[in-house]
Amino acid sequence: MYCPFCNAHDTKVTDSRLVGDGSQVRRRRECLNCHERFTTYERAELALPMVVKREGQREAFNVDKVRRGLQRALEKRKVPAAEIERVLNEIMQALRSSGEREVSSLVIGEYIMEKLRALDDVAYVRFASVYRRFQDIQEFSDEINRLKVDEPEVES
Ligand SMILES: [Zn+2]
Repeated sequence: MYCPFCNAHDTKVTDSRLVGDGSQVRRRRECLNCHERFTTYERAELALPMVVKREGQREAFNVDKVRRGLQRALEKRKVPAAEIERVLNEIMQALRSSGEREVSSLVIGEYIMEKLRALDDVAYVRFASVYRRFQDIQEFSDEINRLKVDEPEVES
């Protein structure tokens, strides 16, 4: 990286060590031009990206919203709660490792569909048929809520 003192392009690392439980690397650097020393810290970008909705608004990724979508699609299916959490973790892991600062809500919907397809056919069809029409996780949640209110209880 460029020297912050003289903007020379050549700096060399004189020391490199792990800090903060190993999640960061601290590097001492020396400018080959002006011989100033400085320190840099490097860490993995693990923040979840902002979600860009279809209309262009941005909002923080909301894990509860995604969990509710999964739970609704999986309602009365024989899928343990632990599986839902595993799928949530996989989705968040995929988003973090993408390194993107923003992600379309459509991409998140596609992730969810992909996971549901592997988990439970009925839940997948439920989610896909409703979601593909709405193309937005919040609209999907609202619609499922509405359907639940309208639907007469079926005794089984
Ligand atoms: Zn310099």
